[in-house]
Amino acid sequence: MATPALYRRFRTLLMANRGEIACRVIRTARAMGLRTVAVYSDADRDALHVAEADEAVWIGAAPARDSYLSIPRILAAATASGAEAIHPGYGFLSESAEFAQACADMQIVFVGPTADMITAMGSKSGSKQLMEKAGVPLVPGFHGEAQDEATLAAEAGKIGFPVLVKASAGGGGRGMRVVRSAGELAAAIVSAKREAKAAFGDDRMLIEKYVDNPRHIEVQIVGDSHGNLVSLFERECTLQRRHQKVIEEAPSPTLNPAQREAVCAAARKAAGAVNYVGAGTIEFVSDGQEVFFIEMNTRLQVEHPVTELITGVDLVEWQLRVAFGETLPLTQDQIVLNGHAVEARVYAENPHKNFMPSVGRIRTWRTPEESNGLRIDAGYREGDSVSPNYDAMLAKVIAWAPTRDAAIDRLNRGLEETDVRGIVTNIPFLSALVTHPDVRANAIDTGFIERQLTTLTPLAAAPGDLELCAAIAAILGEEQAAQAGETSPWQAAGWMPVGRRQRVFKFRHDGHEHKAVLHYGSGPVKIVIGEREFAFTSSAAERGRFDLTLDGSRSHIVAVIEGHELYLRTRNGRFDIHWVDPFGGDDEEQVGEDKIVAPLPGTVVALLAEEGATLEKGAAILTLEVMKMEQTLRAPFAGVLTSIRCKVGDIVQEGVELAVVEPAELKAS
Ligand code: ADP
Ligand code: ADP
Ligand code: MG
Repeated sequence: MATPALYRRFRTLLMANRGEIACRVIRTARAMGLRTVAVYSDADRDALHVAEADEAVWIGAAPARDSYLSIPRILAAATASGAEAIHPGYGFLSESAEFAQACADMQIVFVGPTADMITAMGSKSGSKQLMEKAGVPLVPGFHGEAQDEATLAAEAGKIGFPVLVKASAGGGGRGMRVVRSAGELAAAIVSAKREAKAAFGDDRMLIEKYVDNPRHIEVQIVGDSHGNLVSLFERECTLQRRHQKVIEEAPSPTLNPAQREAVCAAARKAAGAVNYVGAGTIEFVSDGQEVFFIEMNTRLQVEHPVTELITGVDLVEWQLRVAFGETLPLTQDQIVLNGHAVEARVYAENPHKNFMPSVGRIRTWRTPEESNGLRIDAGYREGDSVSPNYDAMLAKVIAWAPTRDAAIDRLNRGLEETDVRGIVTNIPFLSALVTHPDVRANAIDTGFIERQLTTLTPLAAAPGDLELCAAIAAILGEEQAAQAGETSPWQAAGWMPVGRRQRVFKFRHDGHEHKAVLHYGSGPVKIVIGEREFAFTSSAAERGRFDLTLDGSRSHIVAVIEGHELYLRTRNGRFDIHWVDPFGGDDEEQVGEDKIVAPLPGTVVALLAEEGATLEKGAAILTLEVMKMEQTLRAPFAGVLTSIRCKVGDIVQEGVELAVVEPAELKAS
């Protein structure tokens, strides 16, 4: 019996992933008339990707290794659901040659390159050896087999500091450390190896010259199984944090047309070296003059939508057509660049707390309409839970416009109109980033975010008169809604005794109390704040959105009320305000900022200080691995580390006190 071709027509596609990318692939597969199968773990029973697929198969427990990273479980789900093809998305098994091979062995079409191509290009060291031969420019560095400390140290010395130590199997910026001097090398290798082992099960390292003022430029390529290979222009992803992309755009504003053609040609040469089949990305780092190959990602990338928006090509459709065994729909000269697109990654994380991931239930999820050049690729909706087991990316907001400036404006507007409550997100940080003048001017490098952190994470401004009035309008609106159906809401609200002429509202923000008094009677309703007095009306457009008119000037307000916590969006920005309700209990949470507790469930991976040690404020105490990232917990103030309540390897639950520091002043007296 002849073996069926690796790439052939299929009708049922299984999506071996979760979150936004699973939803994204399902959307196109659907439109192409395919039957779609989702897989899910215990944590994802009610997830959006499960709801959107035609069918869904449970694959195991919440930890990824028991579900989304388990090859046998995913193959069993494919068999059970009659799936003839598997799309791996990005992350998880997308760059696993073993998985691609296992699919081929079971005669399931793997939507991606062959196992051999993944093996050749998936490891950073291996692909660099290939590119060296193909004559693609490389960053100077060491990508040999030897892994002993002496060799790595000698090679780093030869390259010259600063160097970048990188996990060969790495991805998502993990397992990577910039090393500025020989003395820091050994510790950086230990920590990068530990992170790489945990994240990729492979701790081999390579070393590269750290390119100065680096920019990240990458080229989208797609090849078919008939020998055709095209590039779809480049993306620039220089706005990064910890080597992980935050904002991506296409085309690169840094390249001129000649440089664009050169980098695209280099990428085609790189992919051509392995007769690449499928969608892939060739990544380069640039010092602003030259570009150097750093790695190839043999899969669809998170930021693929910006390429789709400037070319009009649906890359998932192309992936599926290639997997069907078809030829590419367009030739190189039919692929034209139109306009500019920018994408922002929305994460469940707290920029004010060192971007600590935030987990929990999403109580509010509102995104703007997908029109006027705006696209939202989301993996979550209202009521969903963000689990500590997976990547914290929730969605992507993507904007297209004829020019870069207009695309940035649209993106910012899209971000401003996105409200997510219940968990903390990086949306205000993204807004600050895209409106920063240096970002506008493209005067950036990959270190920009780290250097500008204080300007990009401004402390929340105190609420002004507009916000206090909006808060009152929101509370009244909520009370009206609660009383809906009864007689006049003004009388119906239990808090208002007949004949009462005013109501005092107190709010707290950042430790300060703000007072506003609502006066009503025969004339127009008034609000008095200090010496100031405003004529006030409000009309709700829908729940949580209303128009507020103060002294004849009208503005649009968004409000979300959760118990006594008010979230407002006004023309002045976003505000979180606590309402001190004189009738209800005051349920403001007092979070202990002075305790060293696990912020999320995690694993203790290193103890960095000893019991009894005297610590400066901010001194490192221990490192936790939380959601695949290492987080170092530090002394909240200067003092003595009186006790350490965990050891390396402990799996700790959220809120558990891991160490105790006693303040220096207490000790002294
Ligand atoms: P790279 O930075 O290597 O080019 P991308 O920017 O394309 O990679 O991001 C891929 C990363 O996204 C993976 O390394 C992984 O940590 C993360 N990831 C994997 N699966 C998901 C998912 N379903 N949703 C969100 N993020 C994911
Ligand atoms: P990952 O697989 O995690 O995406 P990459 O090799 O693509 O790893 O590197 C991630 C990021 O780190 C790049 O986007 C780039 O900004 C930065 N980087 C990588 N190599 C270098 C280098 N040699 N010099 C400076 N920056 C680099
Ligand atoms: Mg990369």
